[in-house]
Amino acid sequence: MNRARLLVFNSALPVLDYRVPEGMAIEYGSVVVAPLGPRQVLGVVWEAERLPGTDVPDAKLRPLHEVMPVPPLPAPLRRLIEWTADYYCAPMAAVARMALGSSAALRGGGTMTEYRLTGLEPKRLTPQRAAAMDALDGEQATIRELAERASVSEGVLRGMVGAGLLEPVVVDLDRPYPRARADFAQPELSDDQTAAADRFVAAVAKGGFAPFLLDGVTGSGKTECYFEAVAEALRLGQQVLVLLPEIALTENFLRRFEARFGVPPVLWHSSLKSTERRRAWRAIVRGEAQVVVGARSALFMPYARLGLIVVDEAHEVSFKQDDGVRYNARDVAVMRAKFEKVPVILASATPALESMQLAEAGVYEKIDLPARFGGATMPDIQIVDLRTEQPERGHWLAPRLVKELKARLERGEQSLLFLNRRGYAPLTLCRNCGHRFQCPNCTAWLVEHRLSRRLACHHCGYETPPPEACPECHTADCLVACGPGVERIADEVREILPEARIALVTSDTLNSPAKINAFVEAAENGMIDVIVGTQLVTKGYHFPELTLVGVVDADLGLEGGDLRAGERTYQQIAQVAGRAGRGEKPGEVLIQTRHPEAAVIEALASGDRDSFYAAEAEARRDAMAPPFGRWAAIIISSEDEAEAREAARTIGGSRPDLPDVLVLGPAAAPLSLLRGRYRYRLLINARRSAELQDVIRAWLDPLRFSHGVRVAVDIDPYSFV
Ligand code: ADP
Ligand code: ZN
Repeated sequence: MNRARLLVFNSALPVLDYRVPEGMAIEYGSVVVAPLGPRQVLGVVWEAERLPGTDVPDAKLRPLHEVMPVPPLPAPLRRLIEWTADYYCAPMAAVARMALGSSAALRGGGTMTEYRLTGLEPKRLTPQRAAAMDALDGEQATIRELAERASVSEGVLRGMVGAGLLEPVVVDLDRPYPRARADFAQPELSDDQTAAADRFVAAVAKGGFAPFLLDGVTGSGKTECYFEAVAEALRLGQQVLVLLPEIALTENFLRRFEARFGVPPVLWHSSLKSTERRRAWRAIVRGEAQVVVGARSALFMPYARLGLIVVDEAHEVSFKQDDGVRYNARDVAVMRAKFEKVPVILASATPALESMQLAEAGVYEKIDLPARFGGATMPDIQIVDLRTEQPERGHWLAPRLVKELKARLERGEQSLLFLNRRGYAPLTLCRNCGHRFQCPNCTAWLVEHRLSRRLACHHCGYETPPPEACPECHTADCLVACGPGVERIADEVREILPEARIALVTSDTLNSPAKINAFVEAAENGMIDVIVGTQLVTKGYHFPELTLVGVVDADLGLEGGDLRAGERTYQQIAQVAGRAGRGEKPGEVLIQTRHPEAAVIEALASGDRDSFYAAEAEARRDAMAPPFGRWAAIIISSEDEAEAREAARTIGGSRPDLPDVLVLGPAAAPLSLLRGRYRYRLLINARRSAELQDVIRAWLDPLRFSHGVRVAVDIDPYSFV
């Protein structure tokens, strides 16, 4: 090659051509540094015929600077980057950046310096140093990361190094990970499990694209089954990627993985320390990281020898990214498996309707685990009609639920109360004038967090202490909390069962791996009587003594105009119900609702999953919603309200007029102000015959907007706010 076309890792720059200097060896996928004006840019050498650009004559080309000492991005990954950019109408550079993960890691191994406390106990400490000593107990990271963690300046920490309170530790970035062993602790599988595992193992051994939908009830041992496929890939020297919907679930997964394979897997997620990030990325590209577990972002890593992909809890909405490149990691995982020619397993107890349809159509091979492992039975589900069985005034738990909670406490069994709302109360108002506390940056009420004494916005992170007096009428002590959050439910439990040991489980309370582990250990060892939690406790956990699950408000998810509200409510409640009765004692689930006649509530009560899916599918077919038709959203935002409205009007005014594409809007978004930006939306509903992405590109590409306007395209949207 004497010319190279580059995909530059910067969406603002065009495709650029360079001369390859004598003696420089590059291939497609090589990561290179090139000059651009006085600057240097980083890019990937790409097949010129796949990346249109302006052809510059040879004589005018500037030479590349250098090739990074890392393996080239493999062809299947390059094809995935192209596909993702095309499908989600995103810049290729933005997608390619996700493959890079850590640009620092490109520079090669070597060492980095981290710091940790020496254990020296000085007699006198400044308040800042004392705070740092507290916060950094057991931590080891770079000065910058420690400063962030302890909320002090880097200067304070450098002073502490000088005083001998912190010491440097040299970390080898390329130190190998311990090897996982395929046969470390092989479980004895049930007949159903064996049948499932055999299918997976055969697919891994054979190689080639093979998509599976592993549809197993909660507690059926889906993890054990796909672990056998992981073991087979390990035996073949291949790499495995396991995607989990959120980091909170990884702790539990790590423990089970280590029990099965002898060592923990390699972790990849956005809050890794920089040294861990570089080490993991380098092990991944060299094929040394055997099993990588991560959230969405692990999907685009340049694996050298990928042999299997698993997407656990594949129905989870959090696989959909809602900013930047708005991709769905579940769907891209299947595409990656296709390009890499490897099997992919989507595991869930409540598969998405889209996945069910693909299985029915024969695109996915469906593997069923219809029963719980070890003879545990599915829980008994009952409905509490809140219209007839009313909680006491100012309370939220109906008498029947209270009675069952008491019975569990007497028998020494555990209960779980689920309410998907963080904080104490979702709305605060003034008793005197009715003033409601609203976020200054968003169209949203401020949520009272009593534990941390804050009114907080759950959209932008704005926080303020609750004022002594109403800002409107200046009456003192007049604020009233409206409605419950989990903190308030925990208070109610404390009132009903003063002697119960209560654990409050939300992202506010369990915000570190150490706290998650402490909670799991306490729950497993019978140190907790009642767990009160948000969606954080609905999945993954296995507490054998847990025999009662109470769903505080099943109607919460049904509000709002969400296309998937029914399905999502079904999944969430089925998952949380799945925590009950996983051991020897049978489980019971009480669902509080004001709409016992709603289709999803009836389906949950009767356990008739198939008819729920059938009814849901019918409704979607009528609405031409996915998977029968297609949706896309265009979201326009600006800090200037008039500018946003104007841009939305421009887009609406040039809408395409096509028989198979219906455009709704523009209209002010339900969240019409978010993080200080005014928002408008259009929704596009298309038949499957329409070339939706091409239509959108042809529509938007010629339009020009003022500088402050952002126009985002969301293909297959999950959020409608
Ligand atoms: P699911 O993910 O399908 O809800 P899990 O994989 O969490 O189910 O399994 C439920 C529980 O049963 C876990 O504690 C798991 O370790 C245990 N289990 C499942 N299959 C087996 C097996 N074959 N041998 C031993 N324990 C098993
Ligand atoms: Zn806000």
